[in-house]
Amino acid sequence: MNNDCVFCKIVRREIPAAIVYEDDFVLAFLDIAPTAPGHTLVIPKVHHETFLGTPRNLMHNVVDVAQRIGQVQIKTLGAQGVNILINNYPPAGQSVPHFHIHVIPRYGKKDGFQLEMITHLDGKLNLPAVVEKIKSGL
Ligand code: 5GP
Ligand code: ZN
Repeated sequence: MNNDCVFCKIVRREIPAAIVYEDDFVLAFLDIAPTAPGHTLVIPKVHHETFLGTPRNLMHNVVDVAQRIGQVQIKTLGAQGVNILINNYPPAGQSVPHFHIHVIPRYGKKDGFQLEMITHLDGKLNLPAVVEKIKSGL
């Protein structure tokens, strides 16, 4: 646990949150500034800064709940689609340093949520070198 972490405070019930699911390992609650009605955050109860640094044996618990929340958003909230988003470190948009999965219900292409992937690079750029670097690191 991290004393200053806002999500750890939610786990400890030191600050309020709209909790939709809880078990021994995972907590899920509505985002305080939702991009759409039902925007949910799924977190491990134990503090890990990022997805990248979270132990693998915990991952399936968190992902399983995120999948079920997404299914429910379609079934009971009338969402037409769901975005699953994980930001890692501030340059990638992470503002709360406690691993969380955004489960974002989508209500049509013009519902206001935007995530644009704009390429500035030639797809063939350094392809063999990049493939080799990734493969050798795994
Ligand atoms: P990030 O930018 O780190 O991927 O997402 C952090 C999310 O946490 C944001 O969408 C933000 O609205 C949400 N958030 C920040 N503080 C609180 C809080 O105190 N309570 C709740 N429910 N959500 C929070
Ligand atoms: Zn934390």
